[in-house]
Amino acid sequence: MDDLVVSTPVGLFCPAGGFHIDPWGPAERAVVTHVHADHARPGSAAYLCTEASAPFLRRRMGEAAVVQGTAYGERVRLGGAVVSFHPAGHVLGSAQIRIEAAGQVWVISGDYKRAPDPTCPPFEPVRGDVFVTEATFALPIYRWPEPDAVAREVMAWWERNRQAHVASLLFCYAMGKAQRLLAELARLTDRPVLVHGAVAEVSELYRQQGVSMLATTRVAELPARRSYAGELVLAPLSAGGTPWVRRFGEREIALASGWMRVRGTRRRKGYDRGFVLSDHADWPALLRTIEETGAGRVLVTHGYTEELARFLREGGRDAGVLATHFEGEADV
Ligand SMILES: [Zn+2]
Ligand SMILES: [Zn+2]
Repeated sequence: MDDLVVSTPVGLFCPAGGFHIDPWGPAERAVVTHVHADHARPGSAAYLCTEASAPFLRRRMGEAAVVQGTAYGERVRLGGAVVSFHPAGHVLGSAQIRIEAAGQVWVISGDYKRAPDPTCPPFEPVRGDVFVTEATFALPIYRWPEPDAVAREVMAWWERNRQAHVASLLFCYAMGKAQRLLAELARLTDRPVLVHGAVAEVSELYRQQGVSMLATTRVAELPARRSYAGELVLAPLSAGGTPWVRRFGEREIALASGWMRVRGTRRRKGYDRGFVLSDHADWPALLRTIEETGAGRVLVTHGYTEELARFLREGGRDAGVLATHFEGEADV
């Protein structure tokens, strides 16, 4: 039986449906799992995504882009295939893509996680013949603590810095991670948080979709000469080490990332604190998910692909690697 999805120079392609999935080159029709930059790239003639992803995609691609949003679970016919989106629990709007054609069902996970996240619907296992999984953290050392415990650690760090009259500068992904932190912290405090413009723009789109989070103020809107002592500031990794951070005066800097699970990474990268918070599945969650899909065959796309595929084969499963350009959680 022919594969429903194959790797091509511009990305994963479904010949039966005539569409690409998260293409990294220009495509006639791009079906998009979620709006992180490595999965949603400009240049395609038309985009199909979830309703929740559509506002992000339109902002990213410009008003001229052809973006069609569809509800989770809705069946859309594309060529000879039927496509539907199912929650991936990764960021707002994120989806697995279920493709049915020629008597087969393939499920493309995109990026996903199983840990609770107040900003997006939880991952739903989808049964299929073939499951295409990411492998960003596919090593047994990667096991996440409970996110609410991590939020309490962030809160305690902020509180200690407040008492020491020092700013708390927390770096994280502007799309997804920042909003998750703001939503988790809203359960612990009602103190407002200062944010970089990139975080503010994404947070605004989250609020428009009804996600409740701590109140935020853009740093750029504040008077130039002001004290930041005791404030919590959320900023994207790209702002780290730039003149932008100098204004905060005496500060502690921290990073929220799955990579903080590995001792030494934090110190090597020069962070005072590391918080283990990832929007990807950890090792136990990857294995549990693969089990729950009931798939007889597993294809692994990005991260520790060879390691996961080998582990699955050793367990007697049909598993291989599918080449892609996705990046997982950037190694900072
Ligand atoms: Zn992602
Ligand atoms: Zn990714």
